[in-house]
Amino acid sequence: MDPQEALRTLEEELERALGLIAQVRTLDELESVQVSVLGKKSRYTQVQRSLGQLSEQARKDVGRRANEIRSRLDAAFEERRSGLVKEAERALIAADRVDVTLPGRRGRAGSLHPLTIVEYEIVDAFIAMGYRVVEGPEIETDWYNFTALNIPPDHPARTMKDSLYVDIPGMLLRTETSAVQIHAMESQQPPVYVVAPGRVFRRETPDATHSPVFHQIEGLAVDEGITFSDLKGTLEAFARGMFGEEQRVRLVPSYFPFVEPGAEIDVSCFRCGGSGCGLCGNGWIEILGAGMVHPAVLENVGYDAERYTGFAFGLGIERVAMLRYDIPDIRLFYEGEVRFLSQFGRAT
Ligand SMILES: [Zn+2]
Repeated sequence: MDPQEALRTLEEELERALGLIAQVRTLDELESVQVSVLGKKSRYTQVQRSLGQLSEQARKDVGRRANEIRSRLDAAFEERRSGLVKEAERALIAADRVDVTLPGRRGRAGSLHPLTIVEYEIVDAFIAMGYRVVEGPEIETDWYNFTALNIPPDHPARTMKDSLYVDIPGMLLRTETSAVQIHAMESQQPPVYVVAPGRVFRRETPDATHSPVFHQIEGLAVDEGITFSDLKGTLEAFARGMFGEEQRVRLVPSYFPFVEPGAEIDVSCFRCGGSGCGLCGNGWIEILGAGMVHPAVLENVGYDAERYTGFAFGLGIERVAMLRYDIPDIRLFYEGEVRFLSQFGRAT
């Protein structure tokens, strides 16, 4: 390479490089240009390598010009690099810009499920009367679910037609929270005042009023000297507290194997006030079943049935919630439909 060619090459490369630098849009592109202009295989490097073959004077002239051009290129690359970094920062800031004057996006507040609201209200009413909350297993033995509750071996509730048995012999999904009565009495001596909310299971085909899984609250009081009057007074107080002081309450004789005598508690109809309508028929709505604990049940848990008496009651949470909120179909409780659930607000 003669000196003229070397100098011409340097000027061409300077021109080419300044043009390319002006066009790049990213730091990566800038890097590629830098490699092509100043890298090992670049024409600039070729010129530098050829300096040794030039005469001393030519080497000085070409070398000086090569250094000047190198300085200009380094400056041009650095200027463009810092320009691109600033542009990238500005773009990032613009993308992340927060308009503090925009109204905030409010998170949607959840609400308690209507069954939970009703359960809390019922449980609270009994806690206020000195009861405590207990729970029991959802899978039960035949003993706890039936036998200890004085349900005879031939009772239809025991059949596969009505109950859901599991693969362990003699065990089933509990059909009533009544089984918790037995656990509660086994774990302590009287006095016993407990309520037991929980899920129960039946072999049912779902329809507007039936579900294979639903919720009950069982209550039990065992002490010395408890009479039917205590049962009546307790449940009347509960029904008025739950459904309103103006509610009329009546007890109707009924039969459940684990109580003697047994009774249904009816309240006057919420919708018609007792005159009779499509909801109630005759003006009354049954809200729970109750009775004096059968002496055989007390003996089954080792209590002295001569000394202690008690009463038990059970009610369906779905049934109370359907009456309370005028809900026509039990399946609405389990579908998780937000438009349905959001109507019930928070329990206080
Ligand atoms: Zn009615």
